[in-house]
Amino acid sequence: MKYENILSKLTLEQKCALLSGADVFKTREIPAAGIPSIWLTDGPHGLRKQSGASDHLGLNPSEPATCFPTAAVAACSWDEQLGEEIGSALAEEAAEQGVDVILGPGLNIKRSPLCGRNFEYFSEDPYLSGKMAAGYVRGIQKRGIAACPKHFAVNNQETRRMVSDSILDERTLREIYLTGFEIVVRESAPASIMTSYNLINGTYANENKHLLEDILKKDWGFRGAVITDWGGSNDHAMGVKTGSTLEMPAPGWDSVCELKKAVENGRLKESDVDARIEELLDLIFFIRNDGKKKWINPDPEAHKKLARRAAAESLTLLKNEKDFLPLAAGTRVALIGDFAALPRYQGAGSSQVNTPHPANMLECMENSGLELTGYAQGFHRLGKEDSELLEEAVSLARKAEAVILCLGLDEVQDSEGLDRQHMKLAKNQTDLLRETAAVNPNIIVVLFCGGAVETRWRSSCRALLYASLGGQEGAGAVVDALTGKINPGGKLAESWPESYEDTPAKNNFAGNGRMTEYRESIYIGYRYYQKKNVPAAFPFGYGLSYTTFSYSDLKADEKQVAFTVKNTGKREGTEIAQLYIGKPESAVFRPVRELKGFCRVELKAGESRRVTISLDDLAFRYWNTKTNRWETEGGEYLLQVGSSSESIHLEASVNVEGSMAPVPYTAQELAHYYTGEVQKVPDEEFSALLGGRLPAYKRKIDRNMTFGEMKYARSPLGWLVCAVLTALLNHSLKKGKPDLNLLFIYNMPLRALAKMTGGIVSMGMVDGMVMELKGFWIAGLLRILFEFIRNLLRSRIMEKRIQDKRYDFSEK
Ligand code: BGC
Repeated sequence: MKYENILSKLTLEQKCALLSGADVFKTREIPAAGIPSIWLTDGPHGLRKQSGASDHLGLNPSEPATCFPTAAVAACSWDEQLGEEIGSALAEEAAEQGVDVILGPGLNIKRSPLCGRNFEYFSEDPYLSGKMAAGYVRGIQKRGIAACPKHFAVNNQETRRMVSDSILDERTLREIYLTGFEIVVRESAPASIMTSYNLINGTYANENKHLLEDILKKDWGFRGAVITDWGGSNDHAMGVKTGSTLEMPAPGWDSVCELKKAVENGRLKESDVDARIEELLDLIFFIRNDGKKKWINPDPEAHKKLARRAAAESLTLLKNEKDFLPLAAGTRVALIGDFAALPRYQGAGSSQVNTPHPANMLECMENSGLELTGYAQGFHRLGKEDSELLEEAVSLARKAEAVILCLGLDEVQDSEGLDRQHMKLAKNQTDLLRETAAVNPNIIVVLFCGGAVETRWRSSCRALLYASLGGQEGAGAVVDALTGKINPGGKLAESWPESYEDTPAKNNFAGNGRMTEYRESIYIGYRYYQKKNVPAAFPFGYGLSYTTFSYSDLKADEKQVAFTVKNTGKREGTEIAQLYIGKPESAVFRPVRELKGFCRVELKAGESRRVTISLDDLAFRYWNTKTNRWETEGGEYLLQVGSSSESIHLEASVNVEGSMAPVPYTAQELAHYYTGEVQKVPDEEFSALLGGRLPAYKRKIDRNMTFGEMKYARSPLGWLVCAVLTALLNHSLKKGKPDLNLLFIYNMPLRALAKMTGGIVSMGMVDGMVMELKGFWIAGLLRILFEFIRNLLRSRIMEKRIQDKRYDFSEK
C-alpha cells in the first residue's frame, strides 16, 4: 500500500470522514496524520474563490480575479497553446489565493445549441474539445495546481440536470461523449476529474462502474481522484465502491455514518475505502501550492494582456461583404445596442468571475481612431418593445457612415441551471436591425452570446462578427478587429444551423420525461448536417479573415499529412487548417467526414509554410459494439484538408489495413443511421442500436423525486411546495435574471437535501419526507422528527469524539 504509514494511523471513521467535504469548497484535515485540507474552487475561465459565504452557484461574492474568455470563445482559437497559457494564468491566481484545485475545464459536448451551459464548453466535436481541454489542464498543472475536468460524462442539458438519464448506445458514448475526456486523460493526466449529475443508461455517473472502473481507470489508466459534482452523489457507498473518491460539498456526519455502516454490514469493502483514500492523498500531495510562500506572483497586467490576446485570437468573422471591414480610421460610426454599454462577457452560474473592470465597447471606442457620432441603447435586452429607443437608434444610424450594432442574448439564455427555449435573437433586436438597415446599409453586427443563434437576418448586415462571451477584455479585442488593428482568425467550434428545426436532437433534447434519448447517435453538429445534406448557416470550422489563403502540395499517408498554406492576401493573418477523414465505402454507418487534426498557421502577406499533421490512433478507429473494442475498417479513406468542415481544398486517399472485425450492424436494421435521417428514428431502430433494450421511465416517489415533480406526489404538502416554487421561478424568469438558487431547488432531488445542507438534514429525514409524499402523513412526520433527533444526537456524539484528541479533525 502506497500510504501504509498514514492509513495505519486512521480509524475507519476517520477514513470515511475524509471522503466527503468539510464545507462548500474545502476537504477535511487530520493534522495528526499529516493530512491537510485542500481548497477547491471554480475556475473554468477565472477563479471564483469565495472567502466569505460560499455557494456553488456563484450567488455570493468572490475574490476579484481575471475573467478570461469562456471556453466557447477560446475554442474558436483552435489553439491548445493558448489554452495552456490561460490554464497557467488561472493556476497562478489560484496559488496566490491559496486554492489547490481548479474545478475545470468543462468539456461536455454541445449536443444541442440550446444547452444553457454551452458557453462553458468547447465544441460539438470531441477531438477539438479534448485537445483544448488538455491544453488548459497542462497549463494549470505545470504550476502545481490540480485541474478537475468536468462533467464526466454525457451531461449535455441543464433541464432536470440532477436526475436526467442519458440513454445512448455504446458507440456514441465512446466516439462522441467520451473521446474528449479520453484525450484529456491521456495527454494531460489530470490529478482529478468531476463526475456529472446525470445518470447514464440508468446509473448515476458517479456510481457508474462502466464509466469509472472499466473505462476511466482500466481503459484510460486514470490515476487521479474522482470528485462528485456539488450535491451529485446519490449513494456514496456505491460511489466509493465503483471509484468515486470525494463527495462534495459537505454532507455532514450522516454521510460518514452511512459509509461506515456500509463497510460494517459488508456492502462495501474497507479495501475500497483505502483505495479511495490513496487517490485523495495522491491529489493532496500532487498539489505544490503553498499559500504562504506564494511561489508564483501573478502579474495582473500580464493576465489582462493575456485575456485580451485570447479574446482577439478567438474572434470569428462570419460575414464581410466586399471587404467592408476593417473600417478606415476616421469613419463616422454610430454605436448601437444595449450590449455596447453594459457588456456581456461571461455566463451565469458557478463559473461567474468577479472582475472589477470588464471592458465595454462604448469606452473602448474612445481611442479607436473611429469617429463616434453617438451611442444609442436601441433595445431592452429582455425583449420589451420600446419605440422610443428604436427611433432614437434609427435617427442616430441615419447620420453615420457605418453602424456598429451590438446584438446578443440576455443573461438568462447563457446560464447554468436552465436551457434556452429557442435559438432566436429577441424580436426587438431583429426589428432594430431591419429598421436601421433601412436607413443605413452599412451595418456591422457584433454578436455577444455564448453559442449559436439563428441568423436569417444576416442579409441585412454587411459584416457579422461573433464576439461571444469574450471575458473582461473582450470588448477591446472587438474594437481592434473592427478597425483592423488585429486580423480576426477564429473559426467556429460549433455549427450554426439555419434554424433550430434543423438540429439533429431537436425531438429528443431535454424532453418531458427524465430520460433523454440520444436517438441521433453519433450524428451531432456537422456530422449530421453533412450526412443529411442540411446546409448550415455557418458550418463547423468556418471563419473569415481580412486576408486570403491558398492550400497546395498535399502528401499523405496513414501516418501523416503534409501540405503548404500560403497567405495570398495583402496583410498578415492566421489560418486554421483542418484535417478531416472520411470513408466513402463503409460497411459501418458513419459521418461524411470527422475532424482528426488541425493546425494554426500565422503568416505574413505572401508567406507560405509547410504544415505537417500527424495521425494518431484516434484517426481511423470506430467503436465496434460486437467485439466491444476499437476497430479499424480496412480499405480506402479520404484525407481532406480544408479551411472549414465544408471547404475542403486538398484531398488524398490512403489504404488502411483493417482489423477484420465483424460489422456490428445491418443497413436494414438501422436504416435511419445509414441515411442520416436521425431526427426521426423509430423506436425499434433505436432499440436495436441500444442492443435490444428501450428503457421506459416509471415515475417513483422516492429519494430522487425532484421538488419540481412534487405535483405528482400523493400529498397536498408536496403539491403546495411545487406550486409555490413554480410560481417563484416563473416570476424570476420574467425578471430576466435567473434565480439560480430557485432553479437549483426546483430541479433538485430530495436526497440532495442530505448532501447539501452541511449535515442538518440526514438521509433518514429524507426517507421520512418520502413517506410524507407518499401520503403517509403522520408516519412520515414522526419519522422526520425521529430522524432529526437521531441525526442531531449522532452528530453531537461524533463531534464530541472528534474533539477528543484521538480524532484530530480541526474543522475551521
Ligand atoms: C456545477 C459545477 C461546479 C460546482 C461547484 C455545480 O453546480 O455543476 O460545475 O464546479 O457547482 O461550484
